[in-house]
Amino acid sequence: MELLDRHLAAIGREEPRVHAFLRLCEDEARGQAEAADRLFAAGDGAGELTGIPMAIKDVLSVRGVETTAGSQILRGYRPPYDATAIARLRDAGAVFLGMTNCDEFAMGSSTENSGFQPTGNPHDPSRVPGGSSGGSAAAVAAGEAVYSLGTDTGGSIRQPAAMCGVVGMKPTYGRVSRYGLIAFASSLDQIGPFASSVRDAALVLQAISGVDPRDATSADRPVDLLSELERGVEGMRLGVPREYFQVEGMEPGVKAAVERAVLLLERSGAELVEVSLPHTDYGLAAYYIIAPAEASSNLARFDGVKYGARDEDATTLVDTYLRTRRRGFGTEVRRRIMLGTYALSAGYYDAYYLKAQKVRTLIAQDFERAFEQCDAIVSATAPTVAFPIGAKIDDPIAMYLNDVLTLGGNLAGVPGVSLPCGTSDGLPVGFQVLAPQWADATALRVARAYEAVRDA
Ligand code: GLN
Repeated sequence: MELLDRHLAAIGREEPRVHAFLRLCEDEARGQAEAADRLFAAGDGAGELTGIPMAIKDVLSVRGVETTAGSQILRGYRPPYDATAIARLRDAGAVFLGMTNCDEFAMGSSTENSGFQPTGNPHDPSRVPGGSSGGSAAAVAAGEAVYSLGTDTGGSIRQPAAMCGVVGMKPTYGRVSRYGLIAFASSLDQIGPFASSVRDAALVLQAISGVDPRDATSADRPVDLLSELERGVEGMRLGVPREYFQVEGMEPGVKAAVERAVLLLERSGAELVEVSLPHTDYGLAAYYIIAPAEASSNLARFDGVKYGARDEDATTLVDTYLRTRRRGFGTEVRRRIMLGTYALSAGYYDAYYLKAQKVRTLIAQDFERAFEQCDAIVSATAPTVAFPIGAKIDDPIAMYLNDVLTLGGNLAGVPGVSLPCGTSDGLPVGFQVLAPQWADATALRVARAYEAVRDA
């Protein structure tokens, strides 16, 4: 209860400048904190996450708590059930502080596409926190929550973690059940943690991972993220992808900070190997066909009938669909629905969607080949530090370019961690560690090794 009160006080202090939360669920949190105190008083039954206050990206269904995916179209929607990741944390004794701001339906890289409000970066509130899980990253960076959950479809955990100076992890696709996650692009979406240390991120991911009969893509594989954590990088081979250090728009300060991090790992006993991910240049184009195609299908369910808001002025059923969607969806969501519908239409399917899927296979093969030569891949998380609010909002392509180093990991389904590696112009820089599919523990181990020498 004391920990909850301290975090509610931090929220009271920080929210006027950060705006990380869309809504708090204080009653829920108090009930959970009381239950945790009872467990502690009883002297057993408490685990590592018992009583720890955390925040939830507004795309994860929480039973009875308004969940809107950052969209006006879901205003007033209270899910009748918990997402599996939420249910697992509830069982582990978590304390739910509230729902955090995000780009509408997780579409964006700055949280400016929220249907409600922009979020400020705690390091400089005139700048974006990254996105789409910007509220979850900012809440941890501002000390409002001990940890939080986000989702990552093309970088939406790792990139805001980088920009806010916290740890964020996208697990292997299939590691965490997506049941109860409001879908953006189902073949790319993964739920993962933000925290202020690698170990905390590993603990949370351990708690939410594992097979779930309600998500057929969740994997029935052992999850052991903690036992290798402190083993260091002595004798490991770390791949440095040539293409990832030459991307368009890479800021020199970012590049320098990441190169310093790579050298520190070499001094800790890792062997550096230059690797190549030759199809990197095509990743962005493939992603921005595949993700909108899946989104156009996933978002068809929001019609004013089944969930959330409905336009009450409509007089016919079709009119209800049209008016509700026109008013409920923001510009970026409508852009993606149109792009996706176009790419999937009979006349263009082969030229766009099928082609993009072939490119996706080539990108996955790039990673497979690279991982024949190394145990993990290291790079920057994003080419830039946090940019000013408004700087890229009128230029979708410039915004999309911010994901160039993260979305390959989603297309290939591999796990990735971002953790802070110093600053450029006084703003946090993110260091990304990618590992082969199912080697989530390896990504965490390399990240932890870097964290240890960084802080030494
Ligand atoms: N920024 C990317 C997009 O807009 C990725 C978003 C995400 O990972 N949810 O699609």
